[in-house]
Amino acid sequence: MKNYSEKLARRLKKNPRTKVPDEADNPILTVILDTYHVFDTGTRMELEEEEFKRQAKIYCSDGCIACCLRPMVPATEIEILGLWWFLLTRVDSDTRELVIQRLLARKESSECPFLINEHCSIYPMRPLACRILHVFTKPCDKEEYIYQSRREDVWVPSQEIGKKSAVVLLDYYGFKSLKDKVKAYKEGFIPAQSRFMPDYNWEGLIKIYREGRRG
Ligand code: SF4
Ligand code: SF4
Repeated sequence: MKNYSEKLARRLKKNPRTKVPDEADNPILTVILDTYHVFDTGTRMELEEEEFKRQAKIYCSDGCIACCLRPMVPATEIEILGLWWFLLTRVDSDTRELVIQRLLARKESSECPFLINEHCSIYPMRPLACRILHVFTKPCDKEEYIYQSRREDVWVPSQEIGKKSAVVLLDYYGFKSLKDKVKAYKEGFIPAQSRFMPDYNWEGLIKIYREGRRG
């Protein structure tokens, strides 16, 4: 694992994350952006090896949406805050209103409320759960249950990547030492903190947003 850690550290050094100005007033943003950066960098690193091994390319990409039509996406509170920040600051107002309407009506459809015009409206800040599944050979069909139909085409990043990104995310929950973070990760602290996306109090966030706009 030492070689693996060194390889990932070299990658991260070579491809540092671009800071966003809002981070100066919002340290939570730094934690979640760093978490996604570690996860995505590690995933890309492993995926290159997998693609080489299979001599094939992965199909998943922004705009490939079958997996967003009936997703079960667990997310932690910090992931929700991260994507909410993105929705309020980086998404145009028409799309934002569409998402809000879909969030308020989320119990009426199995589609993810963030799916707008066949595109994930918060793609750069989608939760970790939306970054895990990768599919080879061809994109998923709309009605396909990929683990049942062609398990051999499914690829997911290693647990090591999960651990490395969890170590960053656990800053949000007040864990200080690496030892405590690894212990929390192994004991399932993050899944225990997660809820499925529709179960969050979106009405509360939307109310705060609307009241803020009224000043
Ligand atoms: S999991 Fe399937 S539907 Fe989702 S992005 Fe990948 S290929 Fe597309
Ligand atoms: S958050 Fe984005 S990627 Fe995840 S299920 Fe929703 S639309 Fe799909």
